[in-house]
Amino acid sequence: MTDTTNMEAAPLVGVLALQGDFADHQEALHACGLRTRQVRAAAHLQGIDALVLPGGESTTMLKLLRVEGLFGPLGEALQSGIPVMATCAGLILLAEQVENPAQQSYGLLPVTVVRNGYGRQFHSGTFELECGELDCEPSLRGALPPGMTGTFIRAPRITAIHGAITVLARRDGDPVLVQKDHLLAACFHPELSVAHPVTMLFADMVRAAAGKPEQEGKPEQEGKPAQPGKPAQPGKPQKQSKPAQPGKPEQLGNQEQASNHRAPASRVGPREAATGTTS
Ligand code: GLN
Repeated sequence: MTDTTNMEAAPLVGVLALQGDFADHQEALHACGLRTRQVRAAAHLQGIDALVLPGGESTTMLKLLRVEGLFGPLGEALQSGIPVMATCAGLILLAEQVENPAQQSYGLLPVTVVRNGYGRQFHSGTFELECGELDCEPSLRGALPPGMTGTFIRAPRITAIHGAITVLARRDGDPVLVQKDHLLAACFHPELSVAHPVTMLFADMVRAAAGKPEQEGKPEQEGKPAQPGKPAQPGKPQKQSKPAQPGKPEQLGNQEQASNHRAPASRVGPREAATGTTS
C-alpha cells in the first residue's frame, strides 16, 4: 500500500484528457507512485511537474485543443522544460512534420511522421523492439532492457530525423522511441502494459526533474526480467484503446488522482530489471 502522506508529496503529472487513452496513462502513472491530473483546460496546466500526451486520434485532439482554447497554453507548457511523454497520437502532435495527411503540430520533435505508417487496426499488435545497445546518454543506458515490447495501434511511423535526437528503441530498424531533452516520445503504447520500462523511465525523469525522492510502492516489473512488458499473446494488443468519441470527454471531472492499485509490495526499477536483479 502506498503511504498517503508520501503520495501527497509525489510529483503531479498532467495528462491531456480531451480524447484517447488518457485513463490508461493515469493508471500506469499511479502504479509508479505519481499523481495525475486530467488536463482539459488551460487552468489545469498550473502547477504540474510533467505532462503526458496520450494516444488517440491526433486530428480530433487538434480540433478539441482549438475548441477548448488549449492549443496555445499547452504549447507553452510543452516548451517550459518539464518532462513530457508523448505516445502515438501524442507523438504526432509533437512532430516537426506530419504526413498522410499533413496537419498542424507543435514542431518540437525534429522528426517526420507518417500517420498510420504501421498500417491500420488490422495490422496492430505487440512487437519486440531493439533497444539497450543504442547510442544514448549514459544515464539512460540500461533503462530499457533487451526484449522490451511495444503495442502499436494505427501507429505513426518516424520516417526521417532532422536534428539532434536520441533513438532509444527501434522496430525493424526504424526509430520508435525517441528522446530530445525533456521530451520522450513513443510510436507505441507503454501505458497498455503493466510497469512498462518506458513508463518507469518517464517516472524516473519526472522524479529527477521535480527533485522528489522515489516513492515506495513502485511496481514490480511483470514477467521475466529479460522480457518486460511482454504480453500473453505476442502479436496481439493486450488492450485496445477505446474508440475515439470526438467532442465527448470519456470521463467528467478533473480531480487529482493518486492510486496505486497495481503496485505490489516490492519494486524493481528499470535498471534493476535490465540486469535481472531485484532489491
Ligand atoms: N492513427 C492515429 C492518428 O493518426 C494515432 C493512433 C494512436 O494514437 N493509437 O492520430
